[in-house]
Amino acid sequence: MKLIILAAPGAGKGTQAEMLSKHFNIPTISTGAILRKNIADGTELGEIAQQYINDGKFVPDDVMINIVSKRLNEDDCKEGFILDGFPRTIKQAEALDESDIDIDKVLTIEVDDEKIIERLSGRLECKACGSTFHKEHRKPKTEGVCDNCGGALTVREDDKPEVIKDRLDTYHTQTEPLKEFYANKGMLRTAIGQEEIAQTSAEVLKALED
Ligand code: ATP
Ligand code: MG
Repeated sequence: MKLIILAAPGAGKGTQAEMLSKHFNIPTISTGAILRKNIADGTELGEIAQQYINDGKFVPDDVMINIVSKRLNEDDCKEGFILDGFPRTIKQAEALDESDIDIDKVLTIEVDDEKIIERLSGRLECKACGSTFHKEHRKPKTEGVCDNCGGALTVREDDKPEVIKDRLDTYHTQTEPLKEFYANKGMLRTAIGQEEIAQTSAEVLKALED
């Protein structure tokens, strides 16, 4: 299965990508995670990416196309993969279309803006393993500490309230048109995001059945 997940920031893309990765036994390629790792490691790419991300803007298309095409050509992606966070613009989708990689399906997870703002503004992320929690809805067992690895929980720079609105605007103007792009190719599958993660997972698996 070669799958793209397309959803607004905070819609649960990353969580569902992990679920599907286990379900189909294929790797998840998360562009956000790749960029954050580069920022943490202080690489050249990290330096370029940091400013865009912290302003709620997209990293330039050519940079992203380069990163993803290299990654998808690695051996572990031969049997399938889940793309979390790419493509995010029509230009990226066209580049993927013109490559020799054949995508099977594109999943969108629909969540209202209001809900997204509530989720992102309370989100906590583990610096070490990337697991996410929520200040009210999914509290870690010990405040400030990751349940999974014991790492420190932080608020992502781009989850600060003034950046969330820009990320949502960027999503609506630049990424949402991809739904029509893939619907026209008969590839789009839609799941409605639910309150509970397990319920959303069930919707996602159902959406991918046909
Ligand atoms: P979530 O954490 O819920 O997935 P998100 O989709 O905003 O929210 P990431 O996917 O982690 O977050 O991406 C974080 C940031 O990295 C984006 O806001 C953007 O600036 C940059 N980024 C990631 N993927 C791309 C891409 N394909 N094209 C351009 N910029 C990207
Ligand atoms: Mg993500």
